[in-house]
Amino acid sequence: MSIISKDIQKAITLLTDEKLVAIPTETVYGLAGNIFSEKAIKSIFSTKKRPFFNPLIVHVPSITSLEEIVIHIPEKAKLLANAFWPGSMTMVLKKSDKIPDLITAGKDTVAVRVPNHPLTLELLKQLPFPLAAPSANPFGSISPTKPEHVERYFKNDIEMVLDGGSCTNGIESTIIGFENDEPIIYRLGALALEDIEAVIGKVLIKNKKEQSPDAPGMLARHYAPATKTLLVDDISIEIKHHLGKKIGVLSFSNSLNDNSLTEIILSEKGSMHEAASKLYDSLHELDHLDLDVIIAERFPDNGLGKSINDRLQRATFSL
Ligand code: AMP
Ligand code: MG
Repeated sequence: MSIISKDIQKAITLLTDEKLVAIPTETVYGLAGNIFSEKAIKSIFSTKKRPFFNPLIVHVPSITSLEEIVIHIPEKAKLLANAFWPGSMTMVLKKSDKIPDLITAGKDTVAVRVPNHPLTLELLKQLPFPLAAPSANPFGSISPTKPEHVERYFKNDIEMVLDGGSCTNGIESTIIGFENDEPIIYRLGALALEDIEAVIGKVLIKNKKEQSPDAPGMLARHYAPATKTLLVDDISIEIKHHLGKKIGVLSFSNSLNDNSLTEIILSEKGSMHEAASKLYDSLHELDHLDLDVIIAERFPDNGLGKSINDRLQRATFSL
C-alpha cells in the first residue's frame, strides 16, 4: 500500500506520537519530526544516515514564532523575514535554550524558516511544536521534489508522505547567517542572491565546497545521482568524447535534436525558475535509465542560474 496521503489529521497524529512524516514544501520534501522529541530527531538522522554533526533546519508557521526560538534578531534579519517569509530563505540566528543541541549539532545558532506551502503551513499552525525537516532523501543523494521520490527512498522506513504535489521551486532554500549582525550567504538556493540584495544591499557569499563543512548542503559531493554526471559549457563537444555510450543529456532550453541520446530540456521558454523546479525530478528520471553518463549544461551565472550551477557542480563531483 502506498504511504502517500493527503490526510493532514493522520500527519498530526503521527508527529504528535514522535514519528516522522515527509512533508511538502515549495523547495523540496522534508523528513519532519518534533524538535522537542529526542526520539523523533534521532530517527531523522538514522533514517537519512545523516551524520550528527550536520544541523537541521527548524520550520515554524510564522515570523512571530521566531521570538521563542532565537535570542537575537539583527535588523537585516527582520527586513529579510518581512520580505521573504513564508518563502525559500533560511536564517541562522543565535538560539534560545529551548532548542535542543541535537538539532544544532551543539552550535549556539539555529537555522529557521517559514516554508511556503499551504498544507505544511496548516500543519505547522495546528501543531504545538516546530518541525525539524531536512530534505527527505538518504544523505548525499538527489533531493525529492515529488511524493513518489520520497516513497521510493523511504517506503520501508516511514509511515507517511503528506501529499502536496510537486515542489514549485524545486531546489533547497537559500541559507543566510549573520556575523556581527552582517548577513552572509552559507548556501545558494531557491531565493536568488539578487532578490536578497535588493532588500538589504550587498551580501558576502561563503558557499564553500568543503569536505567537512558547517552545512551538509556545502559538501563538495551532494545531491548526486548514482550515474556518472558531468557539467559542461558545450554539450555537443562533450558528446563526442562518449561515442558508443548510453548518454543522457540535461539541457537548459535548446534541443540537440539527436535521437541517439536521451535528452531532457529543463525549460523550453528559457525560464530559470521552471528549470530549477524540474532539476531534481529530471536527475531522478535520468538516473533510473541505466545510462553510462549524464551530461548537464552549465547555466548562465546569474539569478537562479548561480544556484542551479551550484547543485549541478555538487552532483558531478566524483569520489
Ligand atoms: P537540508 O535540510 O538537508 O537542506 O540541510 C539543512 C541545511 O541547513 C544544512 O546545510 C545545515 O548545515 C544548515 N544548517 C542548519 N543549522 C545550521 C547552523 N546552526 N549553522 C549553519 N548551517 C546550518
Ligand atoms: Mg539535504
